[in-house]
Amino acid sequence: MAFIKINKENFYHNLNQIALKTGSKEKIAIVLKDNAYGHGLILMAKLASEFGIKHAVVRKTDEAEQIEALFETILVLGDTVMNHEKFSYTINTLEDIVQAQKGAKVELKVDTGMHRNGIALDEVDEALTQIKEHGLNLVGVMTHFRSSDVLSSELFWQQKNFEEAKDKIERAGYKDIRIHSHNSAAILRSKHFTEDVVRVGIAAYGYNELDGTFDKVPLKPVLSLYAKRVSTRILNEGERVGYGGDFTASEKMSVSTYDLGYGDGWSRADVQHPFVIAEKLPILGRVSMDFIALASDKEEVCVMNDAQDAAKQLGTISYEVMTALHKDIQRTLL
Ligand SMILES: *Cc1c(COP(=O)(O)O)cnc(C)c1O
Repeated sequence: MAFIKINKENFYHNLNQIALKTGSKEKIAIVLKDNAYGHGLILMAKLASEFGIKHAVVRKTDEAEQIEALFETILVLGDTVMNHEKFSYTINTLEDIVQAQKGAKVELKVDTGMHRNGIALDEVDEALTQIKEHGLNLVGVMTHFRSSDVLSSELFWQQKNFEEAKDKIERAGYKDIRIHSHNSAAILRSKHFTEDVVRVGIAAYGYNELDGTFDKVPLKPVLSLYAKRVSTRILNEGERVGYGGDFTASEKMSVSTYDLGYGDGWSRADVQHPFVIAEKLPILGRVSMDFIALASDKEEVCVMNDAQDAAKQLGTISYEVMTALHKDIQRTLL
């Protein structure tokens, strides 16, 4: 089966770069949602913990449970609010408060302009009242920026709205709660980080999705994807490969089948624009469910070692290429 190599050194390099921005690694909350962006939840949680990261962020309670022993706090972004010693839950709507288990730790997500999730500014006071009434333990206030990756005034008005929300919370008497608004793009462009933690995902995995106007923080890809040779054959001129016979040999050539396909989460893409793998070979013809064809006879080929480059070819973003990779693909440490 195809397999993934995880480069621990590069991961630690990226975490060090982020720690330079936050001031310390204690301020990093590593985002491990969606199988740690396709890198493998448990593996990346262990590495992060070994590095000295104390805080993690996931989507669901069951992810939090799998890595519970490794962190001091785990923020769950979107699940039913439970009472747990280590887990805190995001309050995305007023209904979340009503359904919450008494005593649960919660962090109020304020919608400062993205309009995806979160409590509207004019609902913050109501949310605080309900949090008290339902006996919940407010431990954090957070927001998410919609455009932190581009140079525009957007980030600044969202930050201003966040200030207003924080004022309301302070006026309600809350003091010792953690404050966080930064994702990767926001921390990479930040010059004076003053909040308590940063929720960092993509940058830890090696990608800077900021546009070119910002100073580049040097980051290194952590994940690379390999496929193994299944069989090799000689094609004569005019013979065609795969479903629909979309690739035609223009001369006598050796072609091998490798064990990666769209069933593994690799993109089927567009046969008119053949994907060029990391070893500079184009995929020949259509991607099958479990196989691709390449003009190579190597036992193993590196299909991708830079998800941003791959994403450019595929018309998407690095996040999608990596999170699509199937959970069953074996991840090994380099
Ligand atoms: C996914 C997510 C992040 C991490 O975003 P990156 O761009 O990968 O750093 C941070 N905060 C929230 C609320 C998220 O959903």
